[in-house]
Amino acid sequence: MSDLVDLYQEMVLDHNNRPRNFQKLEDASNTADGYNPLCGDQISVYLKVEDGVIADVGFQGVGCAISKSSASMMTQSVKGKTVEEAEALFQDFHAMVTREPGSDYDSSSLGELEVLSGVCAFPNRIKCASLAWHTLTASLNHKQDGPATTE
Ligand code: ZN
Repeated sequence: MSDLVDLYQEMVLDHNNRPRNFQKLEDASNTADGYNPLCGDQISVYLKVEDGVIADVGFQGVGCAISKSSASMMTQSVKGKTVEEAEALFQDFHAMVTREPGSDYDSSSLGELEVLSGVCAFPNRIKCASLAWHTLTASLNHKQDGPATTE
């Protein structure tokens, strides 16, 4: 069970217990809802984009510890970044969580997000960890036709 212990690191639990930016932005310019049917995780992401910069970000939702803590860390990571930087960060994060377990990845931009690097060994959890990011991308693209999914 040591891998599971690694997965549920202290930081993950801390973000789950005290999620950052856990609020709806009343003046959001972009929003999207996401749903991970495998686990039942649901999330709404709210963005305030000004001049190509994510000036503010919030989220609400219900889900497992991985999905909630990943969303919390996502909001902290993209706040103040340009839309291009946030999209590049998603690519790096996605590469990390979907890589072959044990293989290398580019961690230069990831910072705190690295605490979720162990998720790659748990295929069912990859979607929990990436849901917030898929929903972020959907909101950046104004895709509000229907919920973003991890499929
Ligand atoms: Zn989940």
